[in-house]
Amino acid sequence: MIIDCHIHAGELGKHYPEWWIEELYAAWGGMHNWTYDKPAMTVGERLVYQMDRTGVDMACIMTSDHRRVYPNDGGPYTPNDYLLEVKSAAPDRFALTCSVDPLRDVAASVEEIKRCVKQHGFQACKLYPSYDHFDPRDSRLDPIYKTLSDLDIPMQIHMGWTPCKNAPMKFQQPYLLDDVAAKFPDLKIIVAHVGWPWVDECMALIAKWDNVHADMAYWGWFGAEKVLRTVKDFGNICGYHKLLFGSENSHTHMAADMFRSFEKLAPQLHMSPIAKDDMEKIMWRNTARLWKIDTSKVKSTKAA
Ligand SMILES: [Zn+2]
Repeated sequence: MIIDCHIHAGELGKHYPEWWIEELYAAWGGMHNWTYDKPAMTVGERLVYQMDRTGVDMACIMTSDHRRVYPNDGGPYTPNDYLLEVKSAAPDRFALTCSVDPLRDVAASVEEIKRCVKQHGFQACKLYPSYDHFDPRDSRLDPIYKTLSDLDIPMQIHMGWTPCKNAPMKFQQPYLLDDVAAKFPDLKIIVAHVGWPWVDECMALIAKWDNVHADMAYWGWFGAEKVLRTVKDFGNICGYHKLLFGSENSHTHMAADMFRSFEKLAPQLHMSPIAKDDMEKIMWRNTARLWKIDTSKVKSTKAA
């Protein structure tokens, strides 16, 4: 079983312009299109196609709203309801992560989160401090954190670098979440990308707070050895119950094979292997617990 907790499910050219995605992936090996030969596929069909070929059983798909920080309110935006359309391609294969731009309108964001969760069964919420130009410590966000905590919905949050030119680095360091975790100790937080390049700082944050976790989205680019060494460090410092497999986007590698290779790679690097039970936590159990996914309904893929 593999659950990918980090997939952006917008449509290229419609929800985000091609130049924006190209800028985003320039430093990570460029855009990767799995289905050039199948242009007629919907986003949902394309994701299922990719998941079947990489052995990923289920994906947590997410939206984003970056309209406010570009001229004329014209930034990339994937409406939350669009995910219902994506999910309809294979309802048992997708979990839903809504998103809001908090400073667009805090009260409306709270209502949107409640609507997504209560009416449509969304299971998590993603925030983007750097992309949406806010400091996570800004007290104006407190009603959002409180809502998520009250609903017992995890907050996935982008911390760490992005090549996006319009995303200030001052809002990227994982330590910015220390005050949030202190103020909302029951809020379940998933720090995206293990906060790269502030990975040690991120692990310190996670080791400090019981409800703070990390996902490894984007790490597929770093190669198996670096990823394995980081996973082992993470396990030693924070525990494997706090690390989640994720890939990032349908335009990058899903990296499931890389994680499967750890069993053979560890002895080659004179490292002890990661226990099967711990690998299961990383690859799906932690995400299933946080997103409250009933895995009995998940059908195995062809490649799994
Ligand atoms: Zn992402």
